[in-house]
Amino acid sequence: MYKKILLLFFVLMFVFCGCSKPKKDNPVNTLDDILKRGEVIIGVKTDTYPFGYKDKNGNFAGYDVDLANMIGREIFGQDGKVKFVPVTASDRLMKLFSEDVDMIVATMSITPTRLQIIDFSNPYYIAGESLLVRQGSKIKGLRDLNGKKAIIVFGTSSEASLRAAVPNVGIIGYKTYDEAVKGLKQGKAEAIVSDDTILLGYALKDASLVLLPKRYSKEPYAVAFRKGTESDDLVRVVNKVIDESFHNGTLRKLQKDYGIKKY
Ligand code: GLU
Repeated sequence: MYKKILLLFFVLMFVFCGCSKPKKDNPVNTLDDILKRGEVIIGVKTDTYPFGYKDKNGNFAGYDVDLANMIGREIFGQDGKVKFVPVTASDRLMKLFSEDVDMIVATMSITPTRLQIIDFSNPYYIAGESLLVRQGSKIKGLRDLNGKKAIIVFGTSSEASLRAAVPNVGIIGYKTYDEAVKGLKQGKAEAIVSDDTILLGYALKDASLVLLPKRYSKEPYAVAFRKGTESDDLVRVVNKVIDESFHNGTLRKLQKDYGIKKY
């Protein structure tokens, strides 16, 4: 009898404390919910020029931000309906899972591991991993990093690919690209390994840094959603935007305007 009462107590506690419902009370992710809310909440980078950054007036800007605005326009038929939330490579998935954002447009590559836990749109850009080194560095390619130290940004796909390609590399991680570049300049490691399009922004801004030309991977950037049928309508709308702007040349024009490689 005592055991039964105790069990009942635990069941009631579980129900009333909301432990059975880890998600927020109102699902906020379906297209209908977003339409009712009157704005779409999109996570974008601010440390990843020219994909996601703040312009000199403090506004969100970049290739990813422009795509996010196109998505907002498609959903609401007008501008100004996107609420931007800054994300980094290391916190973007946490912000997606905790429903702080409806979707992420943040230089995120489709990878087999990520496909198990999130839904992706069609790709809207293809980058490739490369190396950023100090001017005059002896590092000429990935293989030269064997037995040396290299920097990655936490939450990026580079850590796994670097470990797989260079088994004897020492890996140092930073939370943001700005910190990673600082580390490289201070000589904490020999190179940063990440997407060439992201590293290029730093090489262009700083003459003491050089981007090596070789690409070591294909990084298809796509919009990320929480996994499940609740995202289906949203994925459809976003794919429509991507496919149309791909075919009508809008994405090409943006790539040209931002000085990023064509794909
Ligand atoms: N595209 C890579 C990734 O998805 C790295 C770029 C980033 O820092 O977001 O992990």
